Amino acid sequence: VRVELLAVGTELLLGDIVNTNAAWLGRQLAAAGLDVTQAAVVGDNVGRIADAMRAGLDRADALVVCGGLGPTQDDVTRDALAEVAGVPLVRDEVIAQGLSDRYAALGRQMPARNLRQADLPAGAVALPNQAGTAPGVRIELPAGVVYLLPGVPHELHRMFTAAVVPDLLARAGEPAVIVSRTLRTVGLWESAVAERLAALHESLEPAGNPTMAYLAGGGQVRVRITAKAADRSAAEQLIAPVEAEARRLLGIAVYGVDDHTLDRVLHELLADLRSTVATGESLSGGLLGAALTEMPGASATYLGGVVAYATDAKRDLLGVSADLLAEEGPVSARTAAAMALGARQRFAATYGLALTGVAGPTDQDGVPAGTVFAAVAGPDGGDTRALQLPGDRERIRALAVVSALDLLRRHLLRLRGSVGRTG
Ligand code: ATP
Repeated sequence: VRVELLAVGTELLLGDIVNTNAAWLGRQLAAAGLDVTQAAVVGDNVGRIADAMRAGLDRADALVVCGGLGPTQDDVTRDALAEVAGVPLVRDEVIAQGLSDRYAALGRQMPARNLRQADLPAGAVALPNQAGTAPGVRIELPAGVVYLLPGVPHELHRMFTAAVVPDLLARAGEPAVIVSRTLRTVGLWESAVAERLAALHESLEPAGNPTMAYLAGGGQVRVRITAKAADRSAAEQLIAPVEAEARRLLGIAVYGVDDHTLDRVLHELLADLRSTVATGESLSGGLLGAALTEMPGASATYLGGVVAYATDAKRDLLGVSADLLAEEGPVSARTAAAMALGARQRFAATYGLALTGVAGPTDQDGVPAGTVFAAVAGPDGGDTRALQLPGDRERIRALAVVSALDLLRRHLLRLRGSVGRTG
């Protein structure tokens, strides 16, 4: 079955709320092996909702609609469905009684207009709402099946899982699963990742299973390999050779899979080596320390950090020599290396990790915005990385943090002599 999604709500069009229901429904449908072919958003207007429903049913076999089932004037999804079905709304007395019982149990008088929630298009079936008041609706039309679900996310989640997924799977006949594997990379731009994987990607296209997609963001690129098969293990078998080849082509840039984040990988590497790290940072103002404390249990490997923003603080708190600062200024490779060394010593950590640079938007003492130096200092020597990062202040700072984490990761991997081992 081909499924389409339709989210109803003027507040979605205006950007007051984000359509997280569509994202959630998309993930659930994919996990159930059901094809989502299109998703749309429409405002609270009977005519436009009805048009969107008709258009969806022209293309798909099933339409999942969310929102606009409440009791207020602008909740008109039921009315639109009745119009599309060409049937009247009929009050369901059992639901009506249930609604007033709910209010009575709370010791409240139900506003009369709430009874609207008991009005269903003739011939429709009510879907019980375990988490709220408005029931959902399912109706069979010649063009396909339509489900109406509440907009409130937790109500929608329960109803969709209990009443819609089993129904759609029964219609689909042959059960199938979709399995995805995401390779996480750092240190390569999206175009570079795509270029390395171009031939592999092309070789997948004729069969269309598995498929491959790139998701770039936050200085990292994720490569998602998705396969569809009769069951999980068959899907995994389709993914395995593609994953192996992608890993070979991307090499050390692959740091993890699925929800394995860069900070987590780093903590694991440090723990493996019974090592700790401390930070000394300037342009990132604490973001590097924040990244290293995101994971619960980070204290096993992260000792602390110094935010040495002013030039004097680099000298006073991180022990960067006044001569070096005078000669090279606060933004240089040697200053970064001295900051890393200072952080390492100050916290008695195995490794010191440092960042200095110009976040912008304007140049600083002739150094252009985006100039960043990351450095690591350890018992086995150090490493520095000079970067010229693009974007605005926020992006430069975020990219700097990712680059510093990656610098330490690569340093530790080299040390462990297992450059190929990732994930
Ligand atoms: P209610 O019975 O509460 O009125 P409803 O079915 O009428 O539910 P809406 O009035 O459309 O649903 O939305 C209720 C709330 O649910 C919205 O204020 C919003 O917070 C949330 N919501 C609605 N649609 C979405 C969506 N597509 N994605 C995420 N949240 C949503």
